[in-house]
Order: sequence, then structure tokens, then C-alpha cells
Amino acid sequence: MRWELDWLESRARLSPNKAAIIDVNTNETWTYEQLSARANNAAANLLNRGVKKGDRVALLAPNDICYFDLLFACGKIGAIFVPLNWRLSVHEINEILQDCTPILIGVHEQFIQIYDQLPEQKPHSFMVGGSIYSEIKFLQKVEEISETDQLAMIYTGGTTGKPKGVVLSHRSILWNGINSILSWGLTDQDVTVNYMPMFHTGGLNALSIPILMMGGTVVIRDHFDAAEAVESINRYQCTIILLVPTMYHMLIQSEEFKSSHFPSMKIFISGAAPCPMQIYEAFQKKGLAFKEGYGLTEAGPNNFYISPEEAQIKRGSVGKPMMFNSIILEKTDGREATANEVGELLIRGKHAFSFYWNNEQATNETMTDDWIRTGDLARRDEQGYYYIVGRKKDMIITGGENIYPLEIEHWLAEHPAIEEAAVIGLPDEKWGEVVAAFIVFKEWSITEGELKTYCEAKLGRYKIPKRFIQVNELPKTHVGKIDKKKLKEMAIKI
Ligand code: ATP
Repeated sequence: MRWELDWLESRARLSPNKAAIIDVNTNETWTYEQLSARANNAAANLLNRGVKKGDRVALLAPNDICYFDLLFACGKIGAIFVPLNWRLSVHEINEILQDCTPILIGVHEQFIQIYDQLPEQKPHSFMVGGSIYSEIKFLQKVEEISETDQLAMIYTGGTTGKPKGVVLSHRSILWNGINSILSWGLTDQDVTVNYMPMFHTGGLNALSIPILMMGGTVVIRDHFDAAEAVESINRYQCTIILLVPTMYHMLIQSEEFKSSHFPSMKIFISGAAPCPMQIYEAFQKKGLAFKEGYGLTEAGPNNFYISPEEAQIKRGSVGKPMMFNSIILEKTDGREATANEVGELLIRGKHAFSFYWNNEQATNETMTDDWIRTGDLARRDEQGYYYIVGRKKDMIITGGENIYPLEIEHWLAEHPAIEEAAVIGLPDEKWGEVVAAFIVFKEWSITEGELKTYCEAKLGRYKIPKRFIQVNELPKTHVGKIDKKKLKEMAIKI
């Protein structure tokens, strides 16, 4: 079959013997030719099992080559690939399956138990991983596939509510790749080590797909360990990496990080959640380029670019919009924000998602005239660099003043006694909302009075928390985002 969107097949023709995937878990390497053959076999298997264009094919697996097998296989036959978050409870996984109703589910041997626990009405399963696909030649005829046909459905992190099924077309995934390649200047010499969960956009889409398009190498690992990460980055001569702040936190505290110079690394990127300043500092001290990446499932996820040199100067900036990407900041009055004004981040481009599965209302609320309303607030400085300010939903309004929790969280986290801080708004009769801060101390703590005095040194009076609540740890989602819904529940109980 010939199909112009099958870029893996083209890549296999261009660089057949180049290492495409290295799996550190199993110690195996697959070349582009082998990866392409696996995709063809997987596609033939899916067809043999009755999968048709538009059908959903789910996957329950740790980070493994089978994610690529099924993504490309679905692409070849027009099916929609739905990777599942195995860290959810069986009940939650079942809810997602009821929502996306896949015809088949690929199950990795590590997760057979999860599949077995699912209620009776579940999709038929087939085993994935390793070299399970039988050598069926891909000869069958399949329906025409166009760029606006759907390729994958990735469920959001569920930070603000139930996870939503974000439907991504071939075009969206292709243009996220093109944007990232052009903006980042990726080449076939680029290597990433992927610790991000591949059922989320960060693990599947952010770096892996663009690097594979360019003929670079993706090293996959199914769990994060700081010492191992330093070793893998150096061993595989990694050039670019994406980790969540929690992973960076573990990384910078390790002895291995302190003693390594990371000669192959061009840039370290943090994504998915706000990044504490002490992480920036740890990289800056070593002269390593570090930047905050911003993305969301609905927008590709990649949207901004900053060069390694600029990243060292523009601390905290996510950069400038990527090549083929329109971005505006919309103020509450509907006008566009000017330099340094805060507004909601609206994104438009060919990398945008198509719609939310089974959720027309959310689609209509999020997409207006092809603009994605991200629900995130940002500002742009005079030179055009963007800074994420926080989620619109998290913004606190106290006595008519807008407060962005991130500003307070960053300042609190700079105190030497404070490990982490999270700020929320609590309902208040007089002020509408008041600021409350949850604090995790390091080995020593300070009094509420001292905390207030510390805040006064930097923050306007109305931003100073009225309540400080000491906790041993902050509730977090599995990718390390602070769970503010839980914090609000906790605050009400205290
Ligand atoms: P849900 O949409 O279900 O509530 P979610 O927002 O976590 O979950 P994702 O698409 O996984 O869904 O995450 C995207 C969100 O993560 C962005 O909208 C933004 O709020 C947050 N985010 C990503 N990168 C950053 C960053 N660098 N700084 C601050 N927030 C970030």
C-alpha cells in the first residue's frame, strides 16, 4: 500500500539501519526498517482481528515499543489509537473504556491483572510487547486515509476534572512534528531518553514523534530513577530531554547529577507543571541550558521554542511561539493583552486537536473559531517571550484583585526552610476569596509570623496568605501536578 502520510515508511527508506528505538528495559534496539516492519505486522494483525477505519484500539502497557507499533499500525488502517493511563484505578480505566468503546485492547504482560479485573463487558484483548506480532505480510487493501482522519485519542491528565478524550488527527500529529523539528532544529543526531508516561501527550508526542520523523533515536524507559537517568543520558549521548518537575527535583538532589557534566546535552526541558526556581538554579550553576516547556494535550502539545542560549538568560520563560503557531493573550474584557499584561492563552494552528470524544459541550467551550482556549494565563514581555502565570481556574479574586497563586508559590519555595508550597483561594464572606498556603517544610520550620514577614518583603499585602497550613506532603497527580481540588477539600476539613 502507498499512502503519503506514512512517514515511518519513508523514514525507513531514508535511514533503514539507523537506531530508531532503544528500550533500556529490555536492552533491545530497533532500526527504522525494523520499526516499520513491526508497524506493518501490527497493522495486518489488527485487520485480521476485524479492526476497521474509525474503530478505537486501546492499549494498556508500560513505556514500551508497542506504543509505536500500535500508533503506526492504527495510522495505516485508519483506526484510532487510545493509550490508557494504567495508574488509574480499575474503576476509572473502565469508565474510560465505556467512553471510548474500543473494539480491541492491547495488553502488556505486566498489566494482565488489570485487564482481568475489568468488568465482564470489556473489549477483546491481545498481547503486546517484545516481538509478539506474527510475521504477517501487510498486503490487505485498506480504506483511503486523509490528513483530517483521526489517529489517536489521548485522555487529559484529569487535573481539573474527569480526563477528557482529546481526539488528534493525522494532521495534528504531523504538524506538531513539523513545528517542533523546524523550531528546535532537530536533526538525525538528536537523541532523547523518554521517562514520561507514553499514555500522555508528553511521552508519546512531545519529543518522541518529532525525533522519529527526523531519524533520531528515542530511548525508552518505564520508570524514573535519578542515578539511572544520569547514566542513560550520558551512555546514549542524549541531546534533549523532557521531564516533569518532580523528576528534576529527584535528579538535582542525586550525587550522580552533581558529578556529571552532561557533555552531549543541548537542553533540558521541564513540562506539565510549573517548575520551581531552585531547579533552574541547579542547572544554571552547572552552565547547562534549561527551559520550561508548556504544552497541553489539545494543542499538540508543543507550542513554544527558546534557544539554549536564550533559555539561560530568560529564566522562567517558555519562549516564543513555534513556527506555524498563532498565539494570542486575551484579557477578560475580550481585548488582546499588551506587553506584560496577563491574558488567557489562545492557540491556533494545524497541530490543534479535532474535538473531545463524546463531549460536544466541552468542545464548543474550548474551541472558538479554531482557537483553543487553553484555560491558562500567561504574559508576554517586551521582547516577545512568554511566561505562564497559572491556570485561570486557580486564579484567586480577593476584594476584586486578581491573584496568581504561582507568583506566591514561587516566592514561598525560595525560602530556605520551605521544600514546597501550594496556594489556593478559599471562600470568604467579606473578600469573596482569601489566600491560603499549604507549606511543606524541609528539616526545620518557621512560625506563621515569620512566614508573613517573609511574604511582606516581596508580595503586596492583599497577596499575603491569610492561612498557612503545614503539611507533610502535597497531594499530586501521577505526573506530579499539585492536586488543587484535593487541597480545597483538605482546607475545608482542617
Ligand atoms: P485536565 O485538562 O483533565 O484538567 P490537565 O490540564 O493536566 O488535565 P494536560 O493536557 O495533561 O491536562 O496538561 C496541560 C496543562 O498542564 C496545561 O493546560 C497547563 O495548565 C499545565 N502546564 C503544562 N505545562 C506547564 C508549565 N510549564 N507551567 C505551568 N503549567 C503547565
